[in-house]
Formats: sequence, structure tokens, C-alpha cells
Amino acid sequence: MVAGIDLGGTKIAAGLVDRQGRVLASRTLPTDAPSGPAAAMDRIAAAVRELAEEAGRRPQAVGVGAPGPLLLPEGRFVGTPNLPGWNGFALRDQLAGRLGLPVAVNNDANAAALAEARLGAGRGAEVMVYVTVGTGIGGGLVIGGRLFSGVNGNGVEIGHTTVDPDGPACGCGNRGCWEAVAAGPALGRLATERLGPPPGRPGGRWTARELLDAAAAGDERARAVAEEYARLLGIGLASAVNLFNPDRLVLGGGVMARYSLLAPAMEAEMRRRALPANLAAVRLVPAALGQDAGLVGAALLAWDLLDEPASRR
Ligand SMILES: [Zn+2]
Repeated sequence: MVAGIDLGGTKIAAGLVDRQGRVLASRTLPTDAPSGPAAAMDRIAAAVRELAEEAGRRPQAVGVGAPGPLLLPEGRFVGTPNLPGWNGFALRDQLAGRLGLPVAVNNDANAAALAEARLGAGRGAEVMVYVTVGTGIGGGLVIGGRLFSGVNGNGVEIGHTTVDPDGPACGCGNRGCWEAVAAGPALGRLATERLGPPPGRPGGRWTARELLDAAAAGDERARAVAEEYARLLGIGLASAVNLFNPDRLVLGGGVMARYSLLAPAMEAEMRRRALPANLAAVRLVPAALGQDAGLVGAALLAWDLLDEPASRR
């Protein structure tokens, strides 16, 4: 048994997970980011101890999925835009010190990618690319069941590839990143631009969720905006398909809860732009594990750490 920790900007999910990826027990705690990373580590360590006590067993290792960017394998935050004040914090060593257990860390998109590849919508794929679209756009690449993280943990940051040289500012400091143009907030912006304020909220701005709900309910104008937005998603997916030549492209994150609404225009745009040989090999599918992907993926990181020869830890 291992512990998986899905560390988010507002809340933390902690759970005990067996080798098959089953969540045996879990709880949710607040991140309370302004109180600082040390206090959050104390809360995580306490939650793991409580879960272990209730289960009557101590986990063998801990895996953490956290918002990037992180330096790997040392598991240290480097300039995390979503957790101000946490920059430089040595997540892996601080948590390992509190629990006396080996700790593996990776970014949240990579953890979710690993879970989808081994237990979810990517099962059986040779090369699986995972793209998560929510408040940002994250990516993960799993080849033959193994996560590819780049040389220091920051590979496959497909959300931060430039798609518009003069586009909107991105949290990373660049302009016109795919994330700045096509993540959830960009859909809210596009909807407000095209439709004016949302019904019943004069002067208000659409959220991505409101727009997708309206489109799903059959509102024709909202549907047109959703389609325009889906094409922006397709542009980045075409790059993913050209770069990695995957046989499976798994789409997760809050925006993809409306996968079936977005898929036709998104896939059509991808097919208009990507290379034919790459397109012939790839299948687009929605993520299968839902909110648990982060927690389960974090636990898989811990299992992988235990399976590594001790000399490489
Ligand atoms: Zn960026």
C-alpha cells in the first residue's frame, strides 16, 4: 500500500492506494496556499498518518502530483504561478522528512497521464499523449507504460507552445501560448466578446462552464462559440499529434467534461492541420478516471519509486 497526494491550488486529496490502483481510503483537505508550503506539508503528513492509523497499516511510500513547474527528481518548486510564495520549496525532501518515507514527486498533469495510461482511457496504447484542459492546459506523455518527464521534469509542456505571436499574455511570461489562447478562461473571454454579458448578469462575464452548459442545453449562439473555441483546441492537438505520433490522445480536465460537445469541431480542426501518417495512427478519447486521476497517478509514482533499484532512488 502507498499514499497518493493530489496537491491542488485550493485543495489537497490524500489517499491510500493499492498496487492495482484502487483507492482504499481518502480525504480532502484545504491547501490554504497563503499559509505557506511548510504548513501544508504538516497537514498532508497528518492526513497520511491518520489514514494509516485507520487502515492499521503504514504506507511504503508516498507519491505527490503538484502544480508545476517543478525540478525533478529532487521535487522542488520553481516559479509556480499558481502557488505564490512556494517558489524554491523542496517538496519531496520536506515531506519525506516529516513522514520518514520515500517520496516521489511529479507535476499534476504527468501524474494524471500515468493513471490514464495504466488504468484509464490510455490502456493498451503504445504512445499515449494526455492533454488536460481546465484553468490551464497541461500535457503528459507515456511511452510503453513509462512516463516521459524530460531531463528535469518539464517535458511535454504543450500548453506553453506559442500559437499566436501577438496573443494574450500567459502566466508563464510568454505571449500567445496555447494555454493563454485555449484554456477555460479563454473560452469565457471569447463568449463575452461574441455574446456580451451572460443572461441575467448585466456587465458580467461568461465563465467557460456557463458557456458550455448553455451550449449543451441547445442555445445556438453558445453552440457557435463552443465550436469556434473547439477549433482553438484542435490547433494544439494537431501539434501534439505531429510531435509525438501517438496512437492514443486522451483528453481530460474540467473543460473536457463536455468532450462530446467539443469533439467534432476539435477533431475536424486537428485533422485539417496534422500530418496524414500521424492522423492515421491516432485515436482521440475522453479521459476515463475523472477526478481520481491525480490521486491515483500520484500513487503510481510511489509504486514506481519502490520498483526502482535502490541505487537509482
Ligand atoms: Zn505559457
